[in-house]
Amino acid sequence: MKDLTSPSYISENIRKSGFFFKKNLGQNFLKESAVAQKIVGSLEPTGDECVLEIGPGFGALTGFLCGSAGKVIAVEIDHFAAGVLREALEDEENLEILEQDALRTDLAGLLYGTEESYGSYKAISNLPYNITSPLIMRLLEIKPRLSSIILMVQREVADRLAAPAGGKDYSSFTAQVRFLAECEKLFDVSKNSFMPVPGVDSAVIRLIPREAPPVSVKSETMMMDMIKASFSMRRKTLANCLSSYFRAERGTVSDLIESAGIAPSARGETLDLEDFARLADAFHGAGIRR
Ligand code: SAM
Repeated sequence: MKDLTSPSYISENIRKSGFFFKKNLGQNFLKESAVAQKIVGSLEPTGDECVLEIGPGFGALTGFLCGSAGKVIAVEIDHFAAGVLREALEDEENLEILEQDALRTDLAGLLYGTEESYGSYKAISNLPYNITSPLIMRLLEIKPRLSSIILMVQREVADRLAAPAGGKDYSSFTAQVRFLAECEKLFDVSKNSFMPVPGVDSAVIRLIPREAPPVSVKSETMMMDMIKASFSMRRKTLANCLSSYFRAERGTVSDLIESAGIAPSARGETLDLEDFARLADAFHGAGIRR
C-alpha cells in the first residue's frame, strides 16, 4: 500500500506540478499516515468491492484504498492535483481517476454504468468542507444504495448530525440525513494533522444508507420537503413556515398540523422524525405539494 501523506512528498509535488492550495476547494491535505490508514480501515474495503473517493487530492487515502479495494474511482476537481495523483499511482491498475466536479457528476452512473460489477459499493472522502451538505445528500441519494460511507467532516458537522431534536445544533440537515442513513461518529482528528492547518478540528463519521426508512411515510419526497419546510424560517411557528413554503391557506395548514397531533404554534426545530412523518402524511393525503 502506498503512503502518500508525508509532508516531503506533498511539498515536492507542489514545487514541481504547479499546484497551489485553494481555500475555495477545501484543500487541506492529510499529512499523517496513521490517520489515513485508520480512516481507510473504517471503510473495511475488500477485493470484491468498488470504492468511490471524492476529492483524492495527492492521494493520502487513495494509496491505501488501492491496496485493499477491488476498484477505486477517484473524482478530483483540481487539474494539478489529479496530475500528481496520476503520476504517483500510475502502477495501480484498479484505480480510475476522473477530473470532474463531484457535484456535477452522475455518481450512480460512474459506479453502476459499466460492464464491471462488484459485491458492494462504498464511498469515502476527506470532504472539501464548503460542499459538505450537498455532497452528503448526493451520496445518500445514490441508488442502489451504497453499503457504507466514511467521511471526514468538520467536528461541528459531526456534532450537528448527532444533535437531539430541540437542541441548538439540530437542523433540517440533521433530520434529513437521519431519515436517509444511520449515522455514527467514529473518532476526532486534530487540525494539526493537515497541511495547511485549517481553522477547525475534524471528525470521521460513518453513514450507512438505510434500506428502509426509520419511520413509515406515504411519500419520501414529501417527507424530505416537510423537513426542509419546517426549518425554512427559524423562530417562526410551524403554521407560518408551512403555509409560506407550500403556499397554502393558513387555516387549512393549521388544521392539517393539528390533525397530525402537533400544535400549529410549535417550532420546526422541536420536531423529531415521527412528527415530520405524521405531518408529511397529512399534507400528502390532502394533496398539498410544493
Ligand atoms: N483526500 C485528500 C487528503 O485527504 O489529503 C485531499 C482532501 S482535501 C480536504 C479535499 C479535496 O477535494 C481536494 O483535493 C479538492 O481539490 C477536492 N475537491 C474540492 N471540491 C471538489 C469537487 N466539487 N469535486 C471533486 N473534488 C473536489
